[in-house]
Amino acid sequence: MDARKKLNLKDKYALMTRDLGWETSYQPMDKVFPFDQYEGIKIHDWDKWEDPFRMTMDAYWKYQAEKERKLYAIIDSFAQNNGHMNVSDARYINTLKLFLTGVTPLEYAAHRGYAHLGRHFRGVGARVACQMQSIDELRHCQTQVHTLSLYNKYFNGFAEWPHMYDRVWYLSVPKSYFEDAMSAGPFEFITAISFSFEYVLTNLLFMPFMSGAAYNGDMATVTFGFSAQSDESRHMTLGLEVVKFLCEQDAGNVPIVQKWLDKWFWRGFRLLTLVGMMMDYMLPKRVMSWSEAWKIYFEDAGGALFKDLERYGLRMPKYHEIATQTKDRITHEAWATFYNYGAAADFHTWVPSDEELDWLSAKYPDTFDSVYRPRFEYWREQQQAGKRFYNANLPMLCQTCQVPMFFSEPDDPTKIAYRESTYHGMKFHFCSDGCKDIFEGEPEKYVQAWLPVHQIYQGNCGGASLEDVLKYYNLSHGHDNLDFAGSPDERNWNAWKDESSAHASGE
Ligand code: FE
Ligand code: ZN
Repeated sequence: MDARKKLNLKDKYALMTRDLGWETSYQPMDKVFPFDQYEGIKIHDWDKWEDPFRMTMDAYWKYQAEKERKLYAIIDSFAQNNGHMNVSDARYINTLKLFLTGVTPLEYAAHRGYAHLGRHFRGVGARVACQMQSIDELRHCQTQVHTLSLYNKYFNGFAEWPHMYDRVWYLSVPKSYFEDAMSAGPFEFITAISFSFEYVLTNLLFMPFMSGAAYNGDMATVTFGFSAQSDESRHMTLGLEVVKFLCEQDAGNVPIVQKWLDKWFWRGFRLLTLVGMMMDYMLPKRVMSWSEAWKIYFEDAGGALFKDLERYGLRMPKYHEIATQTKDRITHEAWATFYNYGAAADFHTWVPSDEELDWLSAKYPDTFDSVYRPRFEYWREQQQAGKRFYNANLPMLCQTCQVPMFFSEPDDPTKIAYRESTYHGMKFHFCSDGCKDIFEGEPEKYVQAWLPVHQIYQGNCGGASLEDVLKYYNLSHGHDNLDFAGSPDERNWNAWKDESSAHASGE
């Protein structure tokens, strides 16, 4: 009998993967792997790394190919059956513009980041896991682009996403988040993305977009979401394994990891403001509120997770109480800001309908009626009087998260939170203690931030007028931007709907 047949799955997998790595002899190992020590992380035995999914490349390709076949079959039928006409309301499409411009480029960035790790970790198990994830992320980027290209045929705001990613003001928020991780060392990158984002916070991104898509009749997006989800569970398991492995390898790793958890929790929380805003304001059919999602996926699930991690010497990320304390505010503050700057955004904004305002009042009983609702109602009055308000002054941005300074003081929802720090005689501004701490941890990194507002004022974005800047963004004025009311998207949608109801009634 063949001896290999007697091996169990784990040993068999070890033979197929670990033996691909060897101790180099022509060059010292430290020269071959130059990046995995300067962060201070000590690994004594890479063989203690447990591969959560023991998958060979051969099985991986077969499995992924099967998912691709299913996905593209559904996308074809979506295209042939004018699936875009089944969404709840044309306002919904704006969530997809936000996703394509803000999230899809992050998939590509993740592909690059994991490819780098797949080369530079000394441990073979970790290298193989990162190589697979790198390919997953490239696939996610491609399937999202292919799926959303269907909407590009019918709606504005989709065409220029790669150009916009490097330029448009609010897209510097996701971009800087990922570039911060990619320009860190390999252990920080994997802790930031695999653990802090994919393990701790990813449900807060995927659940609302995918359930939101399902609720709003968007079967194309549901399909790419499902197709990515099985990869996602592999990524999440990798994230948890990384953190446990680092803590078990050396007690000196624990404070380093904790510092990364603090930093990346806060950066992730700030980034997710955009997702929360989408849930509370941009889905015509709501799934749940941001505050409800935060309770379920962070306070409850995250709380239990960190309880579990106590035995590794880790604690809840710093400022998690502030995140929870402000969960009933950040989405309103964000939507109000996009409403103000809707002339320079790549999607449409609007004041919620009465029914939607009532939903917000019910979901946010402590803050909405007293702080936010009167402002929206005032803006609507102004709009109806033909004076739709667009802010022409540019806001100050937080040096760390790059979000405009619109977050309020944890203890006072009527006061903008503002922090500052001095470095080499220069003043820098922050939205929160969390962002200030991150800056002060590595000021030499964050002073280099490409802040869109500063760049506009310095004349680096096409010129001084809105028209110049929109040109620099490749943003088509009157098509991609401004209020949903009166937009070509709205006009087209109403015309198509009239036409199809006329057909249905035999006119
Ligand atoms: Fe992905
Ligand atoms: Zn900030």
